[in-house]
Amino acid sequence: MKRRRVIYEGKAKILYEGTEPGTVIQYFKDDATAGNGAKKDTIEGKGVLNNRISEYLMTQLAGIGVPTHFVRRLNMREQLIKEVEIIPLEVVCRNIVAGSMAKRFGLPEGQALPRSIIEFYLKDDKLGDPMVAEEHITAFNWAQTQEIDDMMATTLRVNDFLTGLFGAVGITLVDFKVEYGRVWENDFSHVILADEISPDSCRLWDSATNEKLDKDRFRRDLGRVEEAYQEVARRLGILPEGAPGELKAVK
Ligand code: ADP
Ligand code: MG
Repeated sequence: MKRRRVIYEGKAKILYEGTEPGTVIQYFKDDATAGNGAKKDTIEGKGVLNNRISEYLMTQLAGIGVPTHFVRRLNMREQLIKEVEIIPLEVVCRNIVAGSMAKRFGLPEGQALPRSIIEFYLKDDKLGDPMVAEEHITAFNWAQTQEIDDMMATTLRVNDFLTGLFGAVGITLVDFKVEYGRVWENDFSHVILADEISPDSCRLWDSATNEKLDKDRFRRDLGRVEEAYQEVARRLGILPEGAPGELKAVK
């Protein structure tokens, strides 16, 4: 097999050069990290599931007019995406208090917020992804005011849509993280949704039991991580019944 050039290897994915100009291949690994790399392990089958789940969610979002980097899935672990200039921010949208927000403000996890809240974090592992304000983002040129406005508006649309989509299958969207990238057309650029949307980047709770169906199972050593990701895929209707065996077989 012809060797492909690795553009970037991150914690959960590898980017290879794409098959056509302006594209890259996103390969989903089974590797999981938490606490900024302090905790590391592999979750068997995670990459296959996240590739599928992200494909599904990005495609649904494209269907309501949200611009995304997704082009097409290539195989079990790879998808072709538009190459973007990543904006070095994690855009977090919260509906219910959990995780770092609970810690920072001393609030109980599970408390509903009176309205959805958007936060920005600088993507910088060495600094531990610090939270930043819009003032910092423009002062340090990480993004322009117009881009911040576009990212906020798009993230709220993504939140509304995904809240409904997950709600319909008995899953509460507690919070999620998205990344955006710039695409250039001549001298003009606009921002599109990039990276992935999966149980690695969302907090998903079973609406009936509040059972966690996301990466917190890994972060907090709750066990049955792969099963939780599979359950999300199954409820979204993108995993045929009895697929766990199949999934392992085709890896
Ligand atoms: P990290 O450990 O940096 O989070 P990941 O394992 O998540 O890395 O790998 C994905 C990397 O690719 C991330 O750094 C992400 O910002 C970047 N990325 C995501 N989508 C695109 C894209 N469409 N074009 C270029 N880079 C992207
Ligand atoms: Mg990442």
